[in-house]
Amino acid sequence: MKPSMLFKLAILSGVCLILTQQGTAQRKQDPTADLLIELIRVNSSNPPGNNRDLAELLAKKFRALGVEVEIIPTPDAEKVHFIARVKGDGSKKPVLLAAHGDVVGVEREKWTVDPFAGTVKDGYIYGRGAMDFKGGIAVFAEAIMELVKNHVPLHRDVILLSEADEESGLYNTSWLAKSHWELMDCEFALNEGGWIMKSANGGVQYVSISTGDKVSIPLLLDAKGTSTHSSMPRPDSAIFTLSKAMAKLADYQPPVELIPSTREFFETLAKTSEPPLSKYFDDLVNGKDPKVIQEADREISKNALLHAIMRNTFAPVFLKAGFRGNVIPGSAEATLNLRVIPGSDLEKFIAEIREVIDDPRVDVSLPSGDNPDAARVQELVREAESLKSSNTNTDLYRALESSAHSTWRGRPVTPYLFQAGTDATAWRSRGIPVYGIYPYPITPEDLTRMHGNDERVAIESLEQGSAMIYQTLVQVASK
Ligand SMILES: [Zn+2]
Repeated sequence: MKPSMLFKLAILSGVCLILTQQGTAQRKQDPTADLLIELIRVNSSNPPGNNRDLAELLAKKFRALGVEVEIIPTPDAEKVHFIARVKGDGSKKPVLLAAHGDVVGVEREKWTVDPFAGTVKDGYIYGRGAMDFKGGIAVFAEAIMELVKNHVPLHRDVILLSEADEESGLYNTSWLAKSHWELMDCEFALNEGGWIMKSANGGVQYVSISTGDKVSIPLLLDAKGTSTHSSMPRPDSAIFTLSKAMAKLADYQPPVELIPSTREFFETLAKTSEPPLSKYFDDLVNGKDPKVIQEADREISKNALLHAIMRNTFAPVFLKAGFRGNVIPGSAEATLNLRVIPGSDLEKFIAEIREVIDDPRVDVSLPSGDNPDAARVQELVREAESLKSSNTNTDLYRALESSAHSTWRGRPVTPYLFQAGTDATAWRSRGIPVYGIYPYPITPEDLTRMHGNDERVAIESLEQGSAMIYQTLVQVASK
């Protein structure tokens, strides 16, 4: 029997029970779950994003197995990139698994458990990063260590990269790619992204693998008026002008834009959902009558995630106006956060926003000139316009697909456009395919906790995810 099968059987047969001296049955935890608890206990909230201790923890585990590791310092002494490389015979280019080691901060008082304790409760592990993305580090690392323990002969290197500054900060994978590209060069990579979504009956409904990420770009609205004494209001108040523009935007819905991966994703949902939703998904993709499509859009858009992936979106994130109680300010500013489908015509989208506002007193522009975001925004605009979704015609995508099918009994696998951003651009911009997955089955409710409170992942899901990723690696990298 192939080692992959052995491993899979061992972990799918459920948690083992061991007998203590007193003869009572005690739960022996899954190694992926154990590793995740350790990772959660290292607080790597970003900001400040210190992840050196996390890298040291991983280094110890891999060194113990004789695997080559490297900790790459950044200009910030507490932020590092961690690389473990399991050597193949070099006949094929490496496969790389990327998992960011920083996490977003917490509103501690809103958690019912300590977010940095890795509490086990009701079959779940709770803690910041449980889903995003320390769970991913644990699954990827465990699957790779299993390859080493089973002495699987490899024809390509298998690389684990746990990176810094994905959630914010300067020293992310784009920084790493500029200075250390040779360490992260590969044929294809796996990263965070798509979902293994459970349905109401507890089974897996579908597996989505992201092949592209939306691009996040700030857009500035600047309304002008007369600055004067507040005792003599005039009709040209900058605050009122901006408010009217914002009210128009609040009522506006950008049109549906289905790229091929989104189309395939909705077709999968049409096949795996209950009516009436299944019909709405089908109407959205195949409908001819604009009214029917509009109704489908309205119903599907009740789900904020689905609403987001089928269109470019904008969301107000900052407002700035006024400085004294007795002065009418001469300007009022808002920042919109645009989330753009890669390959979109950004200028057209901005023109659409101008048209909705329809007021020459409101200037609509991207940060430019001496704005500190100007250079970064230029880069984002290039990304939004030029990045292509990763091609699914690769050994890695096929391996993900077939291991997902065998782990979750033929449930459908579909490409997916990730609604947020990840640090996959370092590879995609160099033409290297990146596929995204949160490698554990989750419920829609689990998903709302990501970047929120009481973030968690089911232990059973971690076990299944490790089996699936192990099988993927065996398929794509073993001789
Ligand atoms: Zn993440």
